[in-house]
Amino acid sequence: MSLRVEALRVAFPGPDGWVEVLEDFSLTLSPGETVALVGESGAGKSVFIETVLGLLPAGCRVSGRAWFEGQDLLSLNPAQLRPWLGRVLAWVPQSAAQALHPMLPLGFQLREALEARGVPRAEARRRVFELLEALDLRPAERVAGQFPHQLSGGMRQRAMLVAALAQRPRVLLVDEPTKGVDTERKAQVVALLRQAQALQPELAVLVVTHDLELVQAIADRVVVLYAGQIVEASSTSDFFQAPLHPFAQALLAALPQRGLQALPWAESRLVQGCRFHSRCPKVMERCRAQAPPLISRPSSEVRCWLHD
Ligand code: SF4
Repeated sequence: MSLRVEALRVAFPGPDGWVEVLEDFSLTLSPGETVALVGESGAGKSVFIETVLGLLPAGCRVSGRAWFEGQDLLSLNPAQLRPWLGRVLAWVPQSAAQALHPMLPLGFQLREALEARGVPRAEARRRVFELLEALDLRPAERVAGQFPHQLSGGMRQRAMLVAALAQRPRVLLVDEPTKGVDTERKAQVVALLRQAQALQPELAVLVVTHDLELVQAIADRVVVLYAGQIVEASSTSDFFQAPLHPFAQALLAALPQRGLQALPWAESRLVQGCRFHSRCPKVMERCRAQAPPLISRPSSEVRCWLHD
């Protein structure tokens, strides 16, 4: 069963009125696939996860649909959404260290969420221990008795994945898993995400990241977000070999192995026409006046008048 997001719009209240943080955002996440949502900081990547999980602060304006098993998750109030969290949608947050309670042993924390959902204690213990072993947190019994401060950063990150997978979710949302980590830890994250899908082959994974090396290593598809809008959606191989949107091309040109060409910053959300036009090396007159729609290409979608 797929997670299908349709025409999602999210706006935050600002001093001068509503600020559109996500606009016209549609995405399907199918069983067994890994999709990377990439873009600059502030593009709206994490807001997407927070919206689907019902974590946005009160006062935001949300419209659109997020279908799973015939249910629009966006139409549910917090109490109605709760049974879907963990069991269907699981989340690995950006900061694993902060997500764990510092005063409770790891095993207790991992079991607690399962027991709260009615899983018998012995079964919860078995599931947690199996996952700890599978994700190289060994011996499971000893690791389960440790407190978060006794674990390394990498172990805490794996523990968060255990917490997510123990609920046997259908969709795993992973937020910036390599932010601030070194090359060795990055390789561990890649291995970890691969292990997660090996353990649950039907699991759909959405990784929110600005890390293109990670994208190349794990993703089947890439969705590029710019200033709250999807500007390109394609297979990972198409994205790396022949990106269509000038912003996607700029992301790749900024990689060290492709010349480290930095893109100058400019205000993008409030401009008329294409939101990227003040930074775009291929800007045309039309781009300043008219906002391009998402245009379907044979194997991808792109929001750019060059491909009209
Ligand atoms: S629509 Fe125009 S400004 Fe926007 S990305 Fe395409 S060429 Fe550049």
